[in-house]
Amino acid sequence: MVVESERPPLPRGLITLITGCMFSGKTTELLRRIDGVDSGLALLFKHVIDTRYAIDAVVSHGGKSCAAIVVDGSAALLHRIPNDVSLVGVDEAHFLDNGVVAVVSELRRKGVDVVLTSLNCDSWGESFAVVDRLTQIADARIVLTASCAACGEAANRTQRTTPIIDGNMIGGAESYEPRCVRCWRPPETLHKTLRLDTPSRS
Ligand SMILES: [Zn+2]
Repeated sequence: MVVESERPPLPRGLITLITGCMFSGKTTELLRRIDGVDSGLALLFKHVIDTRYAIDAVVSHGGKSCAAIVVDGSAALLHRIPNDVSLVGVDEAHFLDNGVVAVVSELRRKGVDVVLTSLNCDSWGESFAVVDRLTQIADARIVLTASCAACGEAANRTQRTTPIIDGNMIGGAESYEPRCVRCWRPPETLHKTLRLDTPSRS
């Protein structure tokens, strides 16, 4: 684990962004932090598009899981949070629209801690606009790396290993593996064609 920058923790209302490539342990770290909060005081959210391992739970690549509320956008997220919650977790925040930035800012203002995970970049090595904004407002950022599937060095890129069909980028180990920047290659499919179809780009 590499901690790129971490400001001193505030009493309450801290936005923590956990980023990295696929298989870098982002969700495992999120679930560890959720586990550290009394049950009933933490809520976990995921986007409806992410059905890779379970529909209504967040599951790490290592198999650990936690029940999650499924939302189709940032507006739905804010409406589902009761007043007595002290920590909100959001898995795979790159799937969400830009409105999530205002939502987590509002939660921080209310004194609610927010922990989000996100890919550091897409299969073409480009950042997500919503993640760029979250990076700007986060109080703490944790950057995780995986082990390159080709050479074993530290990996910070996600390698697509199967053809992209109809712009569908959702997948797990059958379609992706971690790579270091030297072993990583972008897909041959044109990026701009997919931007129109990929929800994470909204
Ligand atoms: Zn490598």
